[in-house]
Amino acid sequence: MPQAPAKLNAFPVFMRVAGEAVAIVGGGEEALAKARLIGQSSAVLRIIADAPEHDLLAFIAANGAVHIAAAYEAAHLEGAVMVFAASGNEALDRRVAEDARRLGIPVNAVDRPELCDFFTPALVNRAPVTIAIGTEGAGPVLAQMLRSRIDRMLSPSLGPLASLAASLRGTVERLLPKGNARRRFWSEFFGGAPARAMEAGQLSQAHGAAVDLLLSNAPASGHIALVGAGPGAEDLLTLRAHRLLMEADVIVHDALVPEAIVAMGRRDAERLPVGKRKGCHTKSQAEINALLIELGRDGKRVVRLKSGDPLVFGRAGEEMAALRDAGIAYEVVPGVTAAFAAAADFELPLTLRGVSSSMVFTTGHDLKGNSLPDWAKLAISGATVAVYMGRSVAAEVAGRLIEAGLSPDTAVAVVENASLANRRRFHGTLADLPSLEVRADLTGPVMTIIGDAVAGANFERSEPLAAHRHEGAAQTAAEGADR
Ligand code: SAH
Repeated sequence: MPQAPAKLNAFPVFMRVAGEAVAIVGGGEEALAKARLIGQSSAVLRIIADAPEHDLLAFIAANGAVHIAAAYEAAHLEGAVMVFAASGNEALDRRVAEDARRLGIPVNAVDRPELCDFFTPALVNRAPVTIAIGTEGAGPVLAQMLRSRIDRMLSPSLGPLASLAASLRGTVERLLPKGNARRRFWSEFFGGAPARAMEAGQLSQAHGAAVDLLLSNAPASGHIALVGAGPGAEDLLTLRAHRLLMEADVIVHDALVPEAIVAMGRRDAERLPVGKRKGCHTKSQAEINALLIELGRDGKRVVRLKSGDPLVFGRAGEEMAALRDAGIAYEVVPGVTAAFAAAADFELPLTLRGVSSSMVFTTGHDLKGNSLPDWAKLAISGATVAVYMGRSVAAEVAGRLIEAGLSPDTAVAVVENASLANRRRFHGTLADLPSLEVRADLTGPVMTIIGDAVAGANFERSEPLAAHRHEGAAQTAAEGADR
């Protein structure tokens, strides 16, 4: 049975302070902290301090606060709507609290909850939107942690977007009947084209899009975000990807994207797996393109989640072309590509001064045929090569590179499940690489990095690739005999 939440001992309210006096008694750090907090509002700060410290004086000067440079007296509090006892002196703070209470003004005494009528929250400020966090004695560290977590979730453009909403509210209420129509407008306003324009810093376009929405009564415009989900670890997702996921109506994802990331979407979001993994039922690229277009035409906000970066072996090119042709709005959100995650897992410098100054992203699937592709020539001239989807062509890649003149001793690093807790790291040389193809124990995605820069990696946590060579060969023979 779900437990009823405990009762709050302090209830949050928003108090009108514009143009009102807020009194702070104290001249040190505590007073400055409160001044900074209240300074985020349009209240008039009144600071009572006979010997303010330098930083507080600078704050007073910079923020146009009223400074009463005298020893504290109760009369200094008169007319204030809030009082802070922040002198750092217990007896004085107690006196201030008693005076405030006698005058009927709510008071907060720093670090003395027993003297407080109210507590100040940790703030996430996107004026005119505020989020206030209270932890009732669980401490400021928790409050700050929550503050920064929430802060990361909210777009910096939320403030201006909310201001625009406030300025349009009267018009919207005149033009649209209460109920569904109005709700639809606001939901499209905060999640559709006006929000996207504001996110891009285009205030007048945002205004224009809102007006279009209001006048045309147009159906919601669909939007597809091609989003990189990163290599697998949830916290390697970008903040933008996270935000878009939370706003999406539909999430269309590849099989390589972990469930934990897909689950970051809204609970009521539709989730459509489109496969791309050996053995699973998968949609063809043409079917995926058609699906995205259809969702866009239906006015859906879609996140098309791809592993790693969407523009690296993600077939985003085809999806973007289809969306462009169909006139559906889209954007691309980069992600951490597998090569970068694998390099990080190996502490492997992809470029290394004096050793390697270029890098190749390849699949190795273009090595068939007689002429060497350009990337192989780059490898020979010292580039670091990252091979995607390279397991089934490991022997081909190694053989052709050696044949073309790359030393069989060239360092190779292999990472299975890069960035994930169950990652495995292997090191060896180009001569060892073919063993990869025949290993049955690697079931996750595998990244291979080849080049002299690999020698700069940290091999403390990796296993030798070669150890498996013979076993691998035996296995192949056995498989052969079975057939
Ligand atoms: N767009 C993706 C790549 C998709 S192709 C990106 O930018 O990373 C799929 C290939 O990526 C896999 O065959 C594998 O080579 C590599 N890959 C993806 N995730 C990986 C991971 N966590 N560890 C190692 N390789 C990975």
